[in-house]
Amino acid sequence: MDRIAVKFGGSSLADGDQIKKVRAILAADPRRRVVVVSAPGKRHATEAKLTDLLYLCHDMAAMNTDIAGPFGLIRNRFAEIAASLQAGSSILPEIERFGEELRAGCSRDYAASRGEYFSARLIAEYLGAECIDPADSILIRANGTINGESYSRLGTRLADQEPLYVMAGFYGSDRHGRVKTFSRGGSDISGAIAARAAGAVLYENWTDTSGILMADPRIVDNPKTIGEISFQEIREMSYMGASVFHDEAILPVREAGIPIRIRNTNRPGDAGTLIVPTLSDTVMAGTEIAGIAGRKDFSMICLEKSLMNREVGFAHRLLGILREQGISFEQCPSSIDTISVIVEDGQLHGLEDVVIDKIRRQLEPDKLYIEKNLALVAVVGEGMVRTVGIASKIFSALKDARINVRVISQGASEMNIIIGVSSPDYEPAVKTLYAAFIC
Ligand code: ASP
Repeated sequence: MDRIAVKFGGSSLADGDQIKKVRAILAADPRRRVVVVSAPGKRHATEAKLTDLLYLCHDMAAMNTDIAGPFGLIRNRFAEIAASLQAGSSILPEIERFGEELRAGCSRDYAASRGEYFSARLIAEYLGAECIDPADSILIRANGTINGESYSRLGTRLADQEPLYVMAGFYGSDRHGRVKTFSRGGSDISGAIAARAAGAVLYENWTDTSGILMADPRIVDNPKTIGEISFQEIREMSYMGASVFHDEAILPVREAGIPIRIRNTNRPGDAGTLIVPTLSDTVMAGTEIAGIAGRKDFSMICLEKSLMNREVGFAHRLLGILREQGISFEQCPSSIDTISVIVEDGQLHGLEDVVIDKIRRQLEPDKLYIEKNLALVAVVGEGMVRTVGIASKIFSALKDARINVRVISQGASEMNIIIGVSSPDYEPAVKTLYAAFIC
């Protein structure tokens, strides 16, 4: 039988009622046999996220502070869910023992992973499913990436097609067998690994929105939902700030050609967004762009030097200085006598003086300065490559809105055009571009 791997995010598992919706979704399609779960999410906007409480407990315990307050919230949360489902109360004594582990100084990753671990244990018991601890199968390298062996190890664990499996998201283990987490939101990655390991025909990612929106709804009123988008486009969108899906979660399924569907647990009838290896002809023919995404808080290191173009290896040395400091860059626009490197503020934080000093000494530029408060807006879409006039539409719209463009960059794939504007122009730029392409 074909199997579908499904991942439910925190909002889909926030309380007993949400988990009952999950059971109904699983019952509606018997191919949904491999389930990956997050920790319970927030029930309302002002509630603390369970994973944040776990980190807090760990950090408080590390400072020998009494963790009773936040730990009580975690324990009560699971106790309430177990009571509401009348299942899973066997985890409660284990949660007490975990409190002791926290006080005894367990690792930060182990502490954070317990949200997903207890969530999986409880939900597996409620659904009568087999529970999988990913620490036994998923191997995470020191740099946070997946060790390829994970697929065959987890595949062996999922080999029997009959059972319903529930696996905890967000973590695996390092090469010493110690629990290691992915970056925040990493259960999306676990779901993708499970889909590939199980040889699933589809990876469904259930969340609290009916798919991926064409622009940030905090900026554009009621943006449209993307019906179909390619892996490459979605990676660009998520990398450039579109939330909903972890950008690293694309790779495991993309390599295996498994499509992803983003769906809404609260509106299971909505089609959501389908992410595919190759766009269908109708979508290709009918859409100019897939969406608009962007991020603020960038700085641009700008250098000017006469005859820079004659100095072989100038850019190499400049980027080498950044590499020595562990700084990755976003864009590197250049002209005959100037070169700029755009980096995230967070990357540069605390290293600005060292970087400037090294550039000044090693490259001797005529002019060197940092421009702050830069935002990047990406117009993403595979259709751009064969549509005349996209760039002209972008720049006339921005001109009409009197928005000054600081940087322009288009990748060789013509998958996106990235525009740098000053931070106060960020929201107006997104609104303007949405209106130009989508309304
Ligand atoms: N619970 C983890 C987090 O809050 C992982 C996840 O939900 O995907 O980041």
